[in-house]
Parts: sequence; structure tokens; C-alpha cells
Amino acid sequence: VSSTHFDHDWLVVGSGFGGSVSALRLAEKGYRVAVLEKGRRYTDADLPKATSDRGAYLWAPALGWRGIMRMRLFKHLFTPTQTGVGGGSLVYGGVLLRARPAFFEDPQWRDLGPWANLLDHHYRTAERMLGAALPPFESTNQQLAQELVEHLGNGATVTRSPAGVFFGKPGHTVSDPYFDGDGPDRTGCTRCGACMVGCRVGAVNSLNKNYLWFAEKLGVAIMPERAVTDIAPIGAATW
Ligand SMILES: Cc1cc2nc3c(=O)[nH]c(=O)nc-3n(C[C@H](O)[C@H](O)[C@H](O)COP(=O)(O)OP(=O)(O)OC[C@H]3O[C@@H](n4cnc5c(N)ncnc54)[C@H](O)[C@@H]3O)c2cc1C
Ligand code: SF4
Repeated sequence: VSSTHFDHDWLVVGSGFGGSVSALRLAEKGYRVAVLEKGRRYTDADLPKATSDRGAYLWAPALGWRGIMRMRLFKHLFTPTQTGVGGGSLVYGGVLLRARPAFFEDPQWRDLGPWANLLDHHYRTAERMLGAALPPFESTNQQLAQELVEHLGNGATVTRSPAGVFFGKPGHTVSDPYFDGDGPDRTGCTRCGACMVGCRVGAVNSLNKNYLWFAEKLGVAIMPERAVTDIAPIGAATW
């Protein structure tokens, strides 16, 4: 079966971090791409106002809640995951850490190759795309963490974490500051602390503001509220 018989060369399942990067990079290579996403599409204003806003915060269609957070119970594990166009980036801490040297020195990585060097270029790409930056301010939480860790005798280990957040001037909206004006407008973080409920300010650099934004500009079709239930072969290399 020739791929010219199909509307798309690639269908990406899910629009979270992995799906968004795949969609953009495949489109940049000239493929016709569509993204099938189980959850809804959100604007910043649609994001939940509080965790008690169950219809917008929780994903449990059987109960009529079609929000973002999907709680899954396994035999020995309980996980929160996110669902919606942008996947995990819709409601997350925005903390973008690199693995530390000790991780790559572990035999399961060390013996397989120079992973720290190999990944460095990709870390830099992801950090640029997601706008990773150190928060330019001290917070009460940071001070408390510092005091606690000093009390435990490890004060020198405390550092600020890079976050995929536009810090800018709090509450002030500017033209895209990341991609030479080709991205969406951004509003400076107001330090409201609601990242884990959803950033309604527009400061979190969710995937809708970078990878998916540029994927759509290249013609990628993002289809929300489409849950993939099966993948079946219909030819030698076609599914
Ligand atoms: C509350 C919370 C805070 C977090 N904070 C951080 C943080 O600060 N820093 C950090 O690095 N990580 C954080 N994480 C973890 C991070 O969000 C995940 O590691 C990341 O989202 C995983 O990316 P992914 O591409 O694998 O999947 P996801 O981002 O979860 O995307 C998967 C997408 O696929 C869709 N999907 C699934 N099945 C189907 C199907 N059958 N058909 C169609 N669509 C489907 C889902 O709806 C979802 O949108 C946090 C996670 C949570 C829950
Ligand atoms: S404006 Fe509030 S929700 Fe958005 S990034 Fe800043 S602290 Fe988080």
C-alpha cells in the first residue's frame, strides 16, 4: 500500500512532551502529520481555577469530568497523569532539570556510551524550546528549604531549579520573547503559585506555546478528543 493513499504519513498518539516533539520534527522533515489526542484543547483561560473545579481539573469521563488530571490506580502504584492538548505541560511544575553527572556514571549508562556528551546538544535544544530559566527572585519557600537543608547539614547543596516559565515583568504581556516574534505573546509570571493547577496567566511555556505552536504552523493537524483504541497493520509497513 502506497502512503500516497493516506491523508497523513504519520499519526502521533498523544500531544504531551514526546508527541509534540515528534510531530514538529516529522513535519520539519516534510511529512504530513496528525496528532490524535484523547483530551480536550485548552486556552489559558479554560484551565482550572482550583483543584475543586472537578470538571476542568479531573479526568473521569464516567463521572462526567473531562478535565486534565487523570488519576490511575495500579496494583502497587497510584499515578497522576495529564490529558489534553499539551499533555503533561498543561499542569506541571515546569521544573526542567538535567540528569546530574552521577546518573551518567552509573554502570547501566556509563558502559553504553558517552551519554552525557550525546545528550548535551538535545538538552540545549529542549531548554531553548521550553524557555528554561532560573527564577530571578527569592521566595519564602526557597528560604524555608534553605533553612531546613542547612539544619540537616547540607546547606551548600541547595540551588534554584530552572523552570520553563516566562518570568518577564509580572502580569505584563509582550510579543513572543523566545522565537524572534514567531511564537505567541507571553505574560510575565505573577508568582501566584498555581502552576500545578494550570497557569491561567500564560507564563508557563506549555507545549502549546512552542512545539505544538510551530507544528501547527507547518500544517500538523491536531485532533483533540480522539482516543486511540487500537493500531492494526494494513500492509507490509503500514498501520
Ligand atoms: C502534577 C505533576 C507535576 C509534574 N511536574 C513536573 C516538573 O516540574 N518537571 C518535570 O520534568 N516533569 C514533571 N512532571 C512529569 C511530566 O509531566 C511527565 O514526565 C511528562 O508529561 C511525560 O511526557 P509524555 O510525553 O511521556 O506523556 P504526557 O505528557 O503525559 O502526554 C501523553 C498524552 O497522550 C495522551 N494519550 C494517552 N493515551 C492516549 C490514547 N490512547 N489516544 C490518544 N491520546 C492518548 C494523553 O491524553 C496525554 O495528553 C509532572 C507530572 C505531574 C503529574
Ligand atoms: S503565573 Fe502563577 S501559575 Fe503561572 S507560572 Fe507563575 S506562579 Fe505558576
